[in-house]
Amino acid sequence: MTGSAQIWAPIVAQLSEAALLLDAEDCLVTASSVIQTALEPDSMLPGNPVRQILGLPAQAPLSGTTTFSFGDCDCELTLQPVPLYDAQGAFSGTLLILKGWLIEQAVYAREHNLREVALIISSALDIDQILEQVVQLSIDLLKADAGSMPMYDRQRDRLLPSYVFGITAPILKQPVYRGTGIIWQMIDTGRSFLTNNYSAEPRAIPELLAQGVWSVLAVPIMASNQIMGTLNLYRISNKTPFNERDIELLEIISRQAGVALQNARRYHAVVRESERRALLYKASLSFGAASDLEHLYGAIHEAITELVACDICTIVRFDQATRELEYVYLIYQEQRKPVFRQALDQSLLSYIVQTGMALRITSNAVMTEQVPLTEPMTVVEHPSGSLLAVALQVGETTIGALSIRSREPNMYDASDLTTIETLAATAAIAMQKAYLFNQVQALATIDELTGIANRRYFFEQARYELERAMRYKRPVSLLMLDADYFKQINDTYGHSIGDEVLQQIAARCKADLREVDIFGRYGGEEFLVLMPETDLAHAGIAGDRLRQVIASQPILTEAGPVPTSISVGVASFDIGNTGTIELLLDQADKALYEAKNAGRNQTYYYRDA
Ligand code: GH3
Ligand code: MG
Ligand code: MG
Repeated sequence: MTGSAQIWAPIVAQLSEAALLLDAEDCLVTASSVIQTALEPDSMLPGNPVRQILGLPAQAPLSGTTTFSFGDCDCELTLQPVPLYDAQGAFSGTLLILKGWLIEQAVYAREHNLREVALIISSALDIDQILEQVVQLSIDLLKADAGSMPMYDRQRDRLLPSYVFGITAPILKQPVYRGTGIIWQMIDTGRSFLTNNYSAEPRAIPELLAQGVWSVLAVPIMASNQIMGTLNLYRISNKTPFNERDIELLEIISRQAGVALQNARRYHAVVRESERRALLYKASLSFGAASDLEHLYGAIHEAITELVACDICTIVRFDQATRELEYVYLIYQEQRKPVFRQALDQSLLSYIVQTGMALRITSNAVMTEQVPLTEPMTVVEHPSGSLLAVALQVGETTIGALSIRSREPNMYDASDLTTIETLAATAAIAMQKAYLFNQVQALATIDELTGIANRRYFFEQARYELERAMRYKRPVSLLMLDADYFKQINDTYGHSIGDEVLQQIAARCKADLREVDIFGRYGGEEFLVLMPETDLAHAGIAGDRLRQVIASQPILTEAGPVPTSISVGVASFDIGNTGTIELLLDQADKALYEAKNAGRNQTYYYRDA
């Protein structure tokens, strides 16, 4: 450090400008007091190279504009070097004047404690808290009587009310759609506004005039070159006009607010993103845990409502064989609609299923004319509503589609669609698995020819029912049915007509039986019915009714009417009786044998010999 620059030190310390006194080697001699507030005190030690203090590269020129990082925020700093010479005319050092809003802020901070303002504002992550603090502090610092801070909702092009202080005007408390007012002009131009004669302003809001507002100072709140809102101050009882300096001061505050708001929004976006990821993961677990399709649909709907706004939720399944959409899940007005089918048509979901694409509609009004957006059985109460629709795909195959609708316009952004697409991918796999499981389950339990329980499944259910009857001491009965002279039917009409007759026998019986009766094909032309809560007498009545149902009308087949009859054997475990299904079966078989012997088309009870 050369001594000659030192002589300037006492003067520099008193400067109201932000300035650094540097020696001939560009190392710090001293700094004006203003700058101490702005820069980190630790870096301000005499002898420190100035480029290090300012975070500049070693050879950087000490002039022009540079970006300086202060804490979390970057600010533009303009460097104005003033070379200093000693009495002999030799270069002795530099007075480096710094200009930039950080410095302005430091300058104002001396008078206004603005630094503290900045810290308070920038440390908050709660958006409401930021808005409140910014309005309050601005009112205090600029000695205004009232303030407000409408936020600009870019998606819907409207102003949302936020914190209002010192004035009661309903207009400041409600969303305002685009107009020609002062604030809208600011939104479009990004320029501040000042009037000290509000009543002469043609765009003045009568409500504010009525409150006695005579002076208005408003500055835009910007972040990353985007307008986020405006910060408005009003003078009512304070009769001092706002001046240029007040604009500068409020602009400084608004820049802080803009950065803080953006940080808060980013923070919330990150939080939301990680919450979404957690929700999607949770959803994938709940899909896996769903015991059947119904539970799975419920789990999908639940996951959707946790992720996005949802007034109408539709899940359709695409039936490749019939080219129909099956509306397997439709929630409309909080009500589950019954499942129904519809052929592929011009509807939105048909479109989605056929193209496999995903769609986000911000307002129905855009598309209603081309595509009926509404699911069948719903009405558009809010034609301006918004919609997300995605295909349910497993690999290359589309197995269905999903649509989510909100009554409000612009409810979904691009990230919502991505989220739902992710959800749909998991949901589609879970649905496919459940469908396959159902099919396998059906193959294992259902008799292919007649569609009733097969032998294995009949016995599985019958055993369970028998055990229950005995535990609770309830009566239970078994019918054994056997088609009469069936071999003859086959011989006369052919095997496939025989098949048709068997199908019809099963269908007629099934239609006549109760829901609780267990009906199965025992084998060949023999059927079994296990009747819970039914004693021998009532089972006999039911069995004979089945016999009549078959015998009363010939069975209509492709080969014409085929007169058919069955014989029925009835056996029962009365209240308190115990025994196995095999015993009951043996008894019914014996009764059936007697019915056959008695000439067929008869119903016989089993009785102890
Ligand atoms: P009965 O009155 O004594 O019961 O005489 P039946 O001819 O019905 O008795 P039987 O048990 O001798 O013959 C049963 C016939 O049912 C023989 C078999 O070919 C036929 N059958 C068994 N299963 C099927 C089937 O799935 N489809 C067809 N078409 N015929 C079957
Ligand atoms: Mg038989
Ligand atoms: Mg037979």
